[in-house]
Amino acid sequence: MTEVRGYAARDASSPLAPFTFERRTPGPHDVEIEILYCGICHSDLHQARNDWRNSLYPMVPGHEIVGRVVATGAHVKKLKAGDLAAVGCMVDSCRQCSACNDDLEQYCEHGTTWTYNCKDRSGKELTFGGYSEKIVVEERFVAKVPENLDLKAVAPLLCAGITTWSPLKHWNVGPGQKVGVIGLGGLGHMGIKFAKALGAHVVMITTSPGKAQDAKKLGADEVLISTDAAAMQAHAASFDFLLNTVPVPHDLNPYIALLKRDRAMVLVGVLTELEPPVQGGGLIMGRKSVAGSAIGGMKETQEMLDFCGEHNIVADIEMVDIQTVNEAYERLIKNDVKYRFVIDMDSLRKEAA
Ligand code: NAP
Ligand code: ZN
Ligand code: ZN
Repeated sequence: MTEVRGYAARDASSPLAPFTFERRTPGPHDVEIEILYCGICHSDLHQARNDWRNSLYPMVPGHEIVGRVVATGAHVKKLKAGDLAAVGCMVDSCRQCSACNDDLEQYCEHGTTWTYNCKDRSGKELTFGGYSEKIVVEERFVAKVPENLDLKAVAPLLCAGITTWSPLKHWNVGPGQKVGVIGLGGLGHMGIKFAKALGAHVVMITTSPGKAQDAKKLGADEVLISTDAAAMQAHAASFDFLLNTVPVPHDLNPYIALLKRDRAMVLVGVLTELEPPVQGGGLIMGRKSVAGSAIGGMKETQEMLDFCGEHNIVADIEMVDIQTVNEAYERLIKNDVKYRFVIDMDSLRKEAA
């Protein structure tokens, strides 16, 4: 075991603070990574504050992790010391169920082991995430990072990126389709970039008129202000696909009305009760669907990173030091980030030196 420093939440209401814990010595299939950057996902905040009522403390959040490999076990094949590597939302799964066999470890029937706020497979130890100096992860759950990309802006691809990429691919988004991305935050800005790169006509659907210019810069062909009823009416029944990234319960009915017949809106943001109620008629009249999607499997995570390498796609980020992580959380609540905070983990190493 090695001692590792990080920042942890001790309960739902206190700020994140320095915390020391242990990581395992790399086993034969393990990769040990020095963490260079870690993105701040809205899910980190939800879990640190126990919004989903399943938080385990102490909690070291962080699942948008990139860094450099410092050691590998004897059986590790795809990575070696010195390589760039990335870890996302999961660090293990059963590897035997139908989901795992289909490379969809995030839907493991025996429970995915999440990067933090989770028990490891022994059921005894808590997992600790990327707001820390180092992480040790089994090779299957480590991705290779294209060397041509700006590493700090790669970090958010590991959650915001894959969570938007996976449904766009699964629902076959491509040329000739009108695609709406709802909510311009960390996930939404990646949704625009990917939908555009996949050849769709992209409409940013936002509650913030002030983000219209940015949305166009990010690749949106049009901007639709969701609070403008007349504009929403003008786009009724015209969308082939909607990706909804809004993090809180909200009225889905006006968005369902935007879908063409037989098309789907996929939710990735709301994990709690949906309210107000969805009107059955809005779905029935037009055979429409509301679906959900969680991150993406390790195979598609690698495909997404390789696509980003080829198309030069990274997140738009603002760098922060670990010492200001609590202020970053407050700004995230106020919808004040363009469009992802990334922690420079050298700030943690300097603090300890
Ligand atoms: P974020 O950066 O805070 O962005 C969310 C955006 O939603 C905001 O920028 C805002 O965009 C819009 N919004 C916020 N409050 C709203 C409201 N009351 N009504 C309508 N729109 C609102 O969050 P994020 O990091 O992108 O994460 C989004 C959600 O996805 C979070 O709940 C997170 O936990 C979840 N998530 C899910 C998965 C998964 O696997 N399914 C993975 C990662 C994250 P506008 O200003 O443009 O309206
Ligand atoms: Zn996330
Ligand atoms: Zn499984």
